[in-house]
Amino acid sequence: MPKKPFYSEGLYFSCARCSACCRYERGYVFLSKADVQSLVQACKMEYGHFVQVYCRWVPMGDGNERLSLREKAGFDCIFWSDGCTVYRNRPLQCRTFPFWASVLSSQAAWKTAQSGCPGMGQGEFHSGEEIEACLAEQQEEKLISRKNSGVRGV
Ligand code: SF4
Repeated sequence: MPKKPFYSEGLYFSCARCSACCRYERGYVFLSKADVQSLVQACKMEYGHFVQVYCRWVPMGDGNERLSLREKAGFDCIFWSDGCTVYRNRPLQCRTFPFWASVLSSQAAWKTAQSGCPGMGQGEFHSGEEIEACLAEQQEEKLISRKNSGVRGV
């Protein structure tokens, strides 16, 4: 019988709204069509104009590039201003942290991520089933990508 993942009995997490994962360090927030549509609504902008103003294309090293949110100088998320300014419409990647495949790949990976996030290991209980559903939702989500255009992402 395959070994159960370490999170099968559930994990504790409540965001402490410290903003550490939204600021200070370079990172990517990859977007699906649903993410962009939701943000377009929040920003009351046209889809194409939104992509031009708030997004960048990131080369993935496999001949493709993915659409990500831009960052401000100093690596703050483009939507960070004394907190998340699009919190209700934030992308799935933000909504599902820390229940990402990379963070849940092992207890050691969870512990490493925990050292940078005061919300992990405290607060609300999330069952193993809930975590699995969260992982499945991310797997099903089709991120926006295209063939590498040769233009460097900014
Ligand atoms: S680092 Fe953790 S506690 Fe801080 S904002 Fe991000 S998810 Fe919330």
